[in-house]
Amino acid sequence: MEPLSNRRKQVEKKEMTFAERAYLPAIAQGLSITLKHFFKKKATIQYPEQTRERSSVWRGLHVLKRDEEGRERCTACGLCAVACPAEAITMTAGERKVGEENLYREEKYAVTYEVNMLRCIFCGLCEEACPKAAIFLQDDKIAPARFERDEFIYGKDRLVEPLKTTETK
Ligand code: SF4
Ligand code: SF4
Repeated sequence: MEPLSNRRKQVEKKEMTFAERAYLPAIAQGLSITLKHFFKKKATIQYPEQTRERSSVWRGLHVLKRDEEGRERCTACGLCAVACPAEAITMTAGERKVGEENLYREEKYAVTYEVNMLRCIFCGLCEEACPKAAIFLQDDKIAPARFERDEFIYGKDRLVEPLKTTETK
């Protein structure tokens, strides 16, 4: 019968040599691939001892800023929460009491303020929405790995900027 194409190939049953039966060519081929990768530039780094250079537009952990007198800037207006596409921000507002003028800049302040880092996509819209320059995404801090989901809810204890202490020597 005439073949339909000329791609037909006669398969011959060749006896394997001793080296082939002992997988020697395959082992040599495998080792050569390993050696080739051994001298290539590594794709991984020794984190956390080493860190990669970040992009200039990289955004990290949030910080709630204080003003020059150390008072919290946030007035719990809620604009950051409205702007947040991930619905990661929640807060409760309170009224400043007499004697707390040194703690909060305005009469209304955030009694609680939470960012859910598991929801946050670090888009920076909260920072853009804030009329009081109270919230910023830092470029040198990253949310560290944790074991419990609850630990990714960052409250004021971890978000508010620490008070600057004046150095006396
Ligand atoms: S960075 Fe974006 S996602 Fe994260 S809290 Fe701000 S607005 Fe929401
Ligand atoms: S961080 Fe800014 S936008 Fe958000 S509640 Fe406070 S003052 Fe308003």
